[in-house]
Amino acid sequence: MKVVLASKNKHKLVEISKITEKFGIELVLQSELGVDIDVEETGSTFEENSFQKAEAVMKATGLPALADDSGIAVDALGGEPGIYSARYGFDESLDDWGRVLLLLKNAEHIPDEQRQAQFVCVITLVTPEGQTIQARGEVHGFLTREPAGEGGFGYDPIFYYPPYGKTLAEVSPEMKNAVSHRANALKLFYEKMKEAGYADQ
Ligand code: IMP
Repeated sequence: MKVVLASKNKHKLVEISKITEKFGIELVLQSELGVDIDVEETGSTFEENSFQKAEAVMKATGLPALADDSGIAVDALGGEPGIYSARYGFDESLDDWGRVLLLLKNAEHIPDEQRQAQFVCVITLVTPEGQTIQARGEVHGFLTREPAGEGGFGYDPIFYYPPYGKTLAEVSPEMKNAVSHRANALKLFYEKMKEAGYADQ
């Protein structure tokens, strides 16, 4: 079965393909099919936005489509940046690093014992027949006061993961992938695909 990944990101393709290939699914990027839509994310949850992306690409291609939506949520900031993680600050001149510094600044007032944060990832498959398979994964940790580590991407340098005693930017990709929100979502997605009757090859 051919499935379109609602993304232009090759890193996501590689990571998600590792799971979907077990079901005989051939995952292709939407850009490989000449589909160049940027879905406006109007939902208020990771679930809604992930679904919107998958549904729009399914409709544009007529093929089953898979999307993920992810971000970081800081408890003491009422779950912010949350679904706005990629657009945090709503300032187009900010890059990943700029958003990291902005989040640290906005969290300056939060005492150490209240700096709990989660990475969240929701994966959704939508088929033209109307079937939806959705899985959410999380990883729980704390927001640091300063960035640490060169690995990973995005908010990894300011996400302290207690079992490792380090930020997710200070550990190897293998260590991050063993515990990450995306890996957890994919594990659950795998189980749900099996339950839904997709062959496990
Ligand atoms: P998107 O789902 O690719 O749009 O990413 C959402 C936002 O969350 C981006 O700002 C990413 O940098 C951030 N994000 C998602 N996953 C991770 C992660 O594993 N580490 C660090 N930041 C992440």
